[in-house]
Amino acid sequence: MSLPLLADLSREELGQWCADRGVPPYRADQIRKWLFGKRVGDFQAMTDLPAGLRADLQASFALFSTTIQVHQRSVDGTEKLLLELADGNLVECVLMREDERRTICVSTQVGCGMGCVFCASGMLGLQRNLSAGEILEQVLRVDRLLGPIERITNVVVMGMGEPLANLPNLLKALASLDEKGGLGIGARRITISTVGLPDKIRELAGVGKQYNLAVSLHAPNDALRNRLVPVNDRIGIQAILAAADEFFERTGRRVTYEYVVLGGLNDGPDEARQLAALLSNRHAHINLIPMNAVAEIPYHDPAGARLQAFVAILDQAGIAATIRKRKGADIDAACGQLRQRQIAAGVHAAASL
Ligand code: SAH
Repeated sequence: MSLPLLADLSREELGQWCADRGVPPYRADQIRKWLFGKRVGDFQAMTDLPAGLRADLQASFALFSTTIQVHQRSVDGTEKLLLELADGNLVECVLMREDERRTICVSTQVGCGMGCVFCASGMLGLQRNLSAGEILEQVLRVDRLLGPIERITNVVVMGMGEPLANLPNLLKALASLDEKGGLGIGARRITISTVGLPDKIRELAGVGKQYNLAVSLHAPNDALRNRLVPVNDRIGIQAILAAADEFFERTGRRVTYEYVVLGGLNDGPDEARQLAALLSNRHAHINLIPMNAVAEIPYHDPAGARLQAFVAILDQAGIAATIRKRKGADIDAACGQLRQRQIAAGVHAAASL
């Protein structure tokens, strides 16, 4: 039986654990500071704690639950970890460097149940939700890759899985990051990307934090979106936009719409005009993501001229659009790819026995 993961406890829960042992609650913040701020690798390194408390912690908790299976480094400074969880499942997380920014992309589920046709993460369906501690551990692992004066500045929840399908664990993890003793990364520096689950978007709007919301739209009409994002057939674009509008009204945060651009499928002038019409009276920003090639998935990125024409139509309509910079293209950085490749290799290896 493995021990519970320390990062699965909120600040309050760790304070309670201390109180239960007659340990003063300020020790909880000291412990959290070692875990988050000082990048320790074991409990014995928490040198300002009494030896008895260190021993108690060690007997009660695991500091880490994952092992690093693969660590890839791109020429552009992007790094990617494939982590093996305690139960053998695999998840990915990515570090992106851009000027002074150090952004981590975290996963929230093993696999994904949404089934978007262009995405590697969903190819094998959903295995399970990650716990709050497992989400945080990705941050801790990546933080420990940084140099002594580098700090994680931003978090994007754009890894494997549908974050809003695991909202309680995600919110617990993100809150812990910003609580005393954590990494001091507040909601305004955190972006949560969703396939578009209206009820959950409203729930997120109601938590009283200014998280940034990114909605994966990918198509400007339901017929096309049903093909690309199968869960859309029981949701519909209008319901998503209404929930996102409400999110903006309640939080004051402008919503980003993500649009994976699939060559020959959703990148024509008609789609650009429809997209402009959908978003023209909204406080929205469009992030165009040229399709990242995935082995076994037949879609590809758009021709350069077509993408430029698409952007020009949005521009003329006064819609703010940017094309996402491709990071770590040499290391399978689009989430789910590395895990997919690893599993496929394992399956092939097993099949050849
Ligand atoms: N479930 C969340 C997070 C997914 S990953 C969501 O749907 O938003 C973040 C973004 O990457 C999503 O917009 C997703 O659609 C997109 N994406 C997935 N596979 C991709 C690929 N092969 N190329 C480009 N973008 C991809």
